[in-house]
Amino acid sequence: MSFEATIGLEIHVQLGTETKAFSASKVKYGAPPNSLTDPTVLGLPGALPSYNQGAFERALKLGLACGCHIREVSRFARKHYFYPDSPKGYQITQDKEPLCEGGNIEFLFEGKVHKVPLTRIHLEEDAGKSSHVKGAGSRVDLNRAGVPLCEIVTEPAILSSKEAAETMRAIRRLVRTIGISEGDLEKGHIRCDANVSIRPKGQKELGTRTEMKNINSFRFVEQAIDSEILRQSELLSQGGVVEQQTRNWDPDKGISTVMRSKEDAEDYRYFPDPDLPPLIVSKEMKEKTGASLPMLPVPRYLKYVDEYGLTEETAQFFVDENDVGQFFDSTAKHLASSEAKTAANWIQRDLMAQLKENEMEITESKISEKDLSDLVKLISKGDISNKIAKKVFLAMWSEGKSPKTVVEEQGLAQVSDEASIEKWVDEVIAANAKQVSEYRSGKTGLLGYFVGQVMKKSKGQANPGLVNKTLVAKLG
Ligand code: ADP
Ligand code: MG
Repeated sequence: MSFEATIGLEIHVQLGTETKAFSASKVKYGAPPNSLTDPTVLGLPGALPSYNQGAFERALKLGLACGCHIREVSRFARKHYFYPDSPKGYQITQDKEPLCEGGNIEFLFEGKVHKVPLTRIHLEEDAGKSSHVKGAGSRVDLNRAGVPLCEIVTEPAILSSKEAAETMRAIRRLVRTIGISEGDLEKGHIRCDANVSIRPKGQKELGTRTEMKNINSFRFVEQAIDSEILRQSELLSQGGVVEQQTRNWDPDKGISTVMRSKEDAEDYRYFPDPDLPPLIVSKEMKEKTGASLPMLPVPRYLKYVDEYGLTEETAQFFVDENDVGQFFDSTAKHLASSEAKTAANWIQRDLMAQLKENEMEITESKISEKDLSDLVKLISKGDISNKIAKKVFLAMWSEGKSPKTVVEEQGLAQVSDEASIEKWVDEVIAANAKQVSEYRSGKTGLLGYFVGQVMKKSKGQANPGLVNKTLVAKLG
């Protein structure tokens, strides 16, 4: 029998706030265990939550960026479960009245603009972290407890593991672009639960799903889904049934194992949190937040490719690396569209290499956007050659000077005066009698050789167009 897969993702994004979702305790990755807690996070009797405006604004940004319907009044609920990583005994989340519903996550997939429909995006809090140390028992770190999260739930509309991984990538790109999260997967900023079912081709109803928890990389999401599709197909082919389960993906072994049979919503005893007021979104706030959004990844990518003629690879790089893309945007602002592509090359190649060598971020670049744009202008006006520009670039980096200053101080300007060029051409012709007679008897391919010689003589400063013209005239 041949099957088709259906996938729905629940993606958790940690919002990059200074403090936790419902209390003033700080958020910081890698702090000493249990150093970032307070009575609210610990669930001590009498401690009251109060919600973090910054987390709410970030969630609103995300909802608007995805074109969701934003609820004017949304509410927090308690979802009960008994785990050591949640001392309150419940998680504050949103249940029946989430902040955002509907909408899409948009990205380029197989060369086209593709949309994955969303069910909802809601606000909630993260749990702490348990770790199990062989021979030393289990340990709980509550630093992560109470960190604000957005949970993005997609419709069961994803058809392949590759599309699922691209959806996760698109979310990372989006949250970085709109500045609501660093989106660092290694720090657990984005974690995904993957729901997978299969059904015989042509069948209308969806099959029974399983859910794989806490997948923290793009590669693992693909592997976990592929392995689950295979497991379910084998099961059904052998006449078995898929049981609704929550499974745990083990990236080391490359298999998933049962964690628990799926609980129903009733098991969580959801009820409205009596300690938190409803979340109100005014029309004004919606408009103001919507207007503050930067250009989103898909239009931005298309602009890079269509307007500036960047390669797909460079465009994608700038969209994925938001800070680098912003550096490019500010550089391009000073340039004509035709020059922007040159600027893009300098950033992606030379500037990135310098940054990497010096272990610096682009926000710490020793060359400003304005100075880089001036360098590009010198090249496009023909004041300096590309080769000289490399020299200028390095001097700009190490001496912190403007390109004009470097060119003037080191006398690097391109030489375009005819007398100097003629002199170099004459010298080269005189010194290469053999090649000259070969050229004159028809081996015109030697022109490049002569150009090279003249450029060498001029230390790279002669105007190559003029050199070419002069050589052709003199040799002909
Ligand atoms: P929960 O997992 O909290 O019970 P839902 O029942 O709303 O929540 O489903 C969560 C996720 O499971 C969604 O991303 C949804 O698209 C996906 N999903 C639901 N049914 C199926 C199915 N039959 N096959 C694949 N994914 C599904
Ligand atoms: Mg779920």
